[in-house]
Amino acid sequence: MKSECQPRKHSTDGACRQCRLPEHACICALIPRADSSACFWLITHDKEFDKPTNTGKLIQAMMPDTRLFNWSRTVPDEQLVSLLDDPAYQPVLLFPAEYAVEVQSEKACWSRQAMDGRKVAFIIIDATWQQARKMYRQSPYLQNLDLLSLKPEEPSIYSLRRNRQSQHLCTAEVAAQALEQLGERHHRQLLEAVVQVYCDRYLWARKGQKREEDARSIRILEGG
Ligand SMILES: [Zn+2]
Repeated sequence: MKSECQPRKHSTDGACRQCRLPEHACICALIPRADSSACFWLITHDKEFDKPTNTGKLIQAMMPDTRLFNWSRTVPDEQLVSLLDDPAYQPVLLFPAEYAVEVQSEKACWSRQAMDGRKVAFIIIDATWQQARKMYRQSPYLQNLDLLSLKPEEPSIYSLRRNRQSQHLCTAEVAAQALEQLGERHHRQLLEAVVQVYCDRYLWARKGQKREEDARSIRILEGG
């Protein structure tokens, strides 16, 4: 099933409310809804989610049951704290390997073998990784969670922010890697294709760069 982008989804500046691309570049009709055995909980820094270059919204568009929580330094989100104790879920915090080493020694490391019938809830701190480390240190309720540290095998395909190192994955690529660890390679490929097409259209529609859309990604998405 494709998620439709209805005209009412467009905000007054003409951008789609879901993918935030200008209407003529909207990718929502291409984004499949994945039937995954995991869900994603994004803890967002208030400076982050509304940035047009944020890719958390792509996870939200493709993965059912994605939840967003606003992070606050002083007051943890009540709903998140109660979900972390909900026996229906197995919460797993995702961290890129280069930062995970700082916190890993005292953590249980999650792998697929640890799945125990509960729904896996992958938690991503949706911020720059520098902010994410700070947020983690200031959030005791995150510090006892199992951790999955991700080491990308390939350079990031995300190309919308300057001064990024190519081995640093964007939020949606982190989610894609987690899906691979879960054994859901097809969902990983779909989400990476969404990121690729999003980057192509963003650079074309917002930066005026003439770009060919990545034919392989379009094929993957059209195949569902
Ligand atoms: Zn859209």
